[in-house]
Parts: sequence; structure tokens; C-alpha cells
Amino acid sequence: MEIRTYGDPSLRRRAESVEAIDDEIRTICERMVETMLRANGAGLAAPQIGISKRIIVLDVDGEFHVLINPELIETSGDVEQFNEGCLSVPGVHATVSRSARATIAGTNLDGERVEITGEGLLARAIQHEIDHLNGRLFVDRLSQVKRRSLLKEYDRKRRGTT
Ligand SMILES: [Zn+2]
Repeated sequence: MEIRTYGDPSLRRRAESVEAIDDEIRTICERMVETMLRANGAGLAAPQIGISKRIIVLDVDGEFHVLINPELIETSGDVEQFNEGCLSVPGVHATVSRSARATIAGTNLDGERVEITGEGLLARAIQHEIDHLNGRLFVDRLSQVKRRSLLKEYDRKRRGTT
């Protein structure tokens, strides 16, 4: 699957809840996992492949998760500054503030409720992917000045490669 990039309207929609885990949903999850692995990403949300459904996949520190209808239950710990990027805004990175710990709950492909608490990179990936389901991108979390300069850099890089 092709990863949608900045400017694509599917990245800006609030994704819809999954009603039932059927073959369609299982296929979407498979494609998301393949796409994430191929792109070497730490996570991927369904809107990034143009599907407006609340599904995320995560692959951080050997921990692998497929989560349907995930909800951010709690964030805690210090607010950490960390260099962050996104497969949908390729080639640029910026320092983003996020909580050091995050807990989400959702449903796995077997229909069981799972809860995941992550620290560090996993906490960051959790918060980043939940943002995608709500139509938010990491650039939205930057100051206006930083966002503008990052997007300028992004445009420059895109023009350079096409
Ligand atoms: Zn992203």
C-alpha cells in the first residue's frame, strides 16, 4: 500500500470506529503491517494508507501490536522532548514534546481487549499513532515558526527528489 503524505485529506479526517472484526478488517491489518515493515516504521495508522478507520499497528523494541479502536487511557511521567518523524511527512524530523508514559486500550484481531503501557519510544509511538486517528500530525504539535520552517524544508526536499 502506498503511504499517504502531507496534504492528503485522508490524514486530516477523524477516523471511524471499527464495528466488527471481519475479513475486510483483517486484510486491512495485514496490509498495514506489511506497509509498516517495508517502510521501517515504528508504527502506522490506517488513515496513512487512506483508510479512515481506527486501527493502528506498532513495532517498537521487538514489541509488536495490532490495535483496533484504541483509546488513550492515560499519559503520565515527565514531558520529554524527542526528535520525531512520520512516514507521512518523509525526510524531515523535529523535536516534539510528549509524555514519557502512555497507556492505551483496544481490541486485538482475536477480539480480545488489550491494554498496553509504554515508556520512551513506545509511549511516543502510541501518542503519535492516536493523533493520526484524530487527524493530527506531529507537525501540528510544533510552534508556528518551527512548523513553517519544517514544512518549507519538507517542500524543498520533495521538489529535489521529483
Ligand atoms: Zn505518523
